[in-house]
Amino acid sequence: MRIGIGYDSHRLVEGRKLIIGGVAIPFEKGLIGHSDADVLCHAITDAVIGALGLGDLGKYFPDTDPRWKDASSIQMLKEIIDITRMNGYDVIWVDSVVIAEEPKFFPYIESMKVSLSFAGLSPGAINIKAKTNEGMGFIGRGEGIAAHAVCLLDRLCERTEK
Ligand SMILES: [Zn+2]
Repeated sequence: MRIGIGYDSHRLVEGRKLIIGGVAIPFEKGLIGHSDADVLCHAITDAVIGALGLGDLGKYFPDTDPRWKDASSIQMLKEIIDITRMNGYDVIWVDSVVIAEEPKFFPYIESMKVSLSFAGLSPGAINIKAKTNEGMGFIGRGEGIAAHAVCLLDRLCERTEK
């Protein structure tokens, strides 16, 4: 088995859609980045890349690559899930935390799981938690949103033999 940890943060600005876990969430600001800046998707993707021992998100999806300009981060995660299977592993569990002062994400968590399943993760193998930062730091001031994720990989062949 392999474990991986991922972290990401993006700045909140006006005039952008807020996409978290592949779900568009109504809010007056959105996250800025080269892609759709889906902070949760990026943290999960980084955790999976880490578990594979293949470096980090920036190595696969450089912000100089026009292919990923305003791209769906669900598509990025799907590419990494495909690479995971090609390496003989499967993602068997993801736990994650989204840290934002606003808006409240709790009502969207089940939709996020469904959306992440389009990337190849099983909705029954994802946990998403929503927290505030108790008003502290850049998150507390509403300047940005951060996410943490851990994932567990298991060998595909060993699982099918069980
Ligand atoms: Zn990111």
